[in-house]
Amino acid sequence: MAGAPEGMTSSEKIPPAGSGPHMDTLAFSAIEANVPGLSEVILRKLNLKNYEMLFKARRGANEFGIRTYHDMFRRMEDTYTFCAKCKVLPEALPPGKTLLRCKRCQNVYYCSRECQRSNWSTHKKFCKKLKLAAIDRLMEWLVYTGDIPFALTPWSKPETAVAGWDEWFDMQPNLEEKLQTVLETRRMVLLWTNAGKPRPSNEELLASVRRMVTDALSRPLTLGLALRLFGLAPATGRPIHIHVAGASHAETLDARPSDYDELLRMFPENDVADSATERSPLLSAPPFGNVYMTGFKGLYHDFWETLVETGKAARPAMVVAFHPGFHASPELTEGWLPTLLLLRDYNIPTLCTLYSEQEFRRSLQILTELEVKLTHQGPNPFQSLRFEQAQANPNHALVSSNAYLLAFVGALPEIDQLLTIKSESPQSILGT
Ligand SMILES: [Zn+2]
Ligand SMILES: [Zn+2]
Repeated sequence: MAGAPEGMTSSEKIPPAGSGPHMDTLAFSAIEANVPGLSEVILRKLNLKNYEMLFKARRGANEFGIRTYHDMFRRMEDTYTFCAKCKVLPEALPPGKTLLRCKRCQNVYYCSRECQRSNWSTHKKFCKKLKLAAIDRLMEWLVYTGDIPFALTPWSKPETAVAGWDEWFDMQPNLEEKLQTVLETRRMVLLWTNAGKPRPSNEELLASVRRMVTDALSRPLTLGLALRLFGLAPATGRPIHIHVAGASHAETLDARPSDYDELLRMFPENDVADSATERSPLLSAPPFGNVYMTGFKGLYHDFWETLVETGKAARPAMVVAFHPGFHASPELTEGWLPTLLLLRDYNIPTLCTLYSEQEFRRSLQILTELEVKLTHQGPNPFQSLRFEQAQANPNHALVSSNAYLLAFVGALPEIDQLLTIKSESPQSILGT
């Protein structure tokens, strides 16, 4: 789920080696011209590792065969369509047979009544949440088309008074009206006439719109929360560079610069109305108060060595790793370990987000073993309220983006002391 943990993504200033600087843009504009929002949906849903794969697949759109909205939604659903019990795929069924779908959740498939019956004792624990997940993964399209979230307004309360989603929603003027408007958009109609599933009730759709708003804004608000926790609010009068480390492509390439505009509304006093958040440049001059975000396709410690050490990129005020996945990384020593040690030893305020409590506990254990100085840990008040299912195994605990936080700065004092003692001993020998 966290993708390649060491695979960092996308700085527009640093094209990946061996490819033209705008290759991804070119490949995508062709698709976008046909179906808005499609390219990003494909990337995520079909688990394409990078834009090059998509580019190859695009040579002749026939490999995808997507020409209509109906095709697009069917294709997305295909990646979830297999028997939840015996895992058989539709193409392995005898001619004329198709998979059955659970009527309650519209999310889980079976090859036969027998498989459904024998799976029920497990599936019933997840069926309700899987129903919400199935609605949300279709509704996600409306995030990519820009229909969700609704038009956002400046915050009416200081960010310190907004402790979580309840307070955030309370701040939105005419909220019910705005949610209702999303329900009535043309694309909402398109979605449910082509989804191949019954349209949920208005009540269910409104609840989904709310969840999708939190999903779309979880990243910027989590980032803003981290800025506050680390005492780095943009009004401090200097440009703030944030590096996004170790994100899978879903975390950074999917993020359009405007996704982070909510940060500007969160810190309005910084008075840089048109560009509070930007991607790049790697080095910045004033205007002060700007927040610059940089991601990189590669290992973060390599980025540090080649660009930060050499002065080509500014030292970050904060490093964020959305779902780094180092708890599950077999290559911890090559991938994340050098990065975590670097961040610790250079005292860079670092924030990690985790999908679940289990992931949180395992990551916490790793950071504890590395003797970092933890500053904040626990559930994230700005987690996404959307449930996500494990694609290959629907009957499994559902998780949420940015559900938990771990923040650290530097090392525990003991380590400092050890280093001091070591560096002093040669001097004392010289002195005698
Ligand atoms: Zn089966
Ligand atoms: Zn079900």
